[in-house]
Amino acid sequence: MQIAIAGLGSSGSYLLRLLTNAGFDVSGFDPKREGFYIPCGYAANRNMMKDLLSLVDIEFSRYIESEADEITFSGSSRRKLRFRSMGLVTFDKNRLETDLLNGCKWQRKKLSGSFDLIVDATGISRQYLPAGDDYTMHTTEYLATLTEKEDFQFRYFPNGSGYFWIFPIGNKYHVGAGSSSMSSIRESLSPYSAEKLVSRDIRLKPLLHSCYKDNIIGIGEAIGTVSPITGEGIVPSMKSALHLFTAISRHNDIASIRQEYFKSVMKEFKRYYTLYDLLRNFQSGNLRKSKAISYISAARKDMRSFGIDVRITKAIREFM
Ligand SMILES: Cc1cc2nc3c(=O)[nH]c(=O)nc-3n(C[C@H](O)[C@H](O)[C@H](O)COP(=O)(O)OP(=O)(O)OC[C@H]3O[C@@H](n4cnc5c(N)ncnc54)[C@H](O)[C@@H]3O)c2cc1C
Repeated sequence: MQIAIAGLGSSGSYLLRLLTNAGFDVSGFDPKREGFYIPCGYAANRNMMKDLLSLVDIEFSRYIESEADEITFSGSSRRKLRFRSMGLVTFDKNRLETDLLNGCKWQRKKLSGSFDLIVDATGISRQYLPAGDDYTMHTTEYLATLTEKEDFQFRYFPNGSGYFWIFPIGNKYHVGAGSSSMSSIRESLSPYSAEKLVSRDIRLKPLLHSCYKDNIIGIGEAIGTVSPITGEGIVPSMKSALHLFTAISRHNDIASIRQEYFKSVMKEFKRYYTLYDLLRNFQSGNLRKSKAISYISAARKDMRSFGIDVRITKAIREFM
């Protein structure tokens, strides 16, 4: 089977490496220019990254830039809640993605040629799968030097309308904001000055129910493997790549690959539908008490998997 991967970000570069190492006939395509600074906070759970990268013989600790001690959350009252880290770090994402591509067959251009299976790993663009009902937010992020030392932090805008973050990265910081309102983004970033400024939309709606069409299968942010409450997408996108790799390794025909992959991503990321519902109901002021238990359990699982030991009752009191 000839396989093409369009998009070589977190999910595509990882899948390309997994398939190449396992001896598949696979080619990668991505037109982004060399040295492009990827818009992302570069934060992930070191334990999850270690496990995922051990499958391609890469030692994750070589890429770590900063480790969280505590993570501070605040809402509109600006009262601060502090939670212990369970492995949240920032890392050199650009170097990791370059290293993943080492020894793989890929070209710096858009997909061309004909293939038995096409993987849409084009992130927010979702270039090859059909567009559907979607929900995205604008984001802007600065690479900045700050005069005072800061730990990892999130601040949520009123009524779930967006969020602001500061993540230490080496001796600098990623300072960013995501919202549907450009003026909220500008206002929250106004105290900072950017050494680099990047911007793109982020998909917060899970599209797992539409993760394939014919011989095209999507992974990563193209199918909405992004946490609707934190914007975490690196580990989830790599996990979706691993699920597709497993399905491709087990089956020779597209229909069986699609079926197994669909089942496993739905199981892995089911909580994103609950968290998306939480976000949208919070925004519209329609939070229902009857759903509280499912929201709490999905939010706790999500934060812990990002590396944050969140005390959920404290958080609910503050944000809801
Ligand atoms: C500002 C910001 C901050 C974030 N911070 C974090 C964070 O700290 N931690 C975290 O876990 N997640 C974070 N995320 C989310 C995370 O970055 C993404 O969800 C994750 O990287 C998605 O991986 P992916 O492989 O699906 O897509 P991407 O990594 O976005 O890769 C998509 C690739 O497709 C390529 N492409 C586009 N069109 C085509 C085409 N037609 N043909 C071929 N290639 C194409 C692009 O050049 C790109 O390289 C953040 C997102 C944003 C926007």
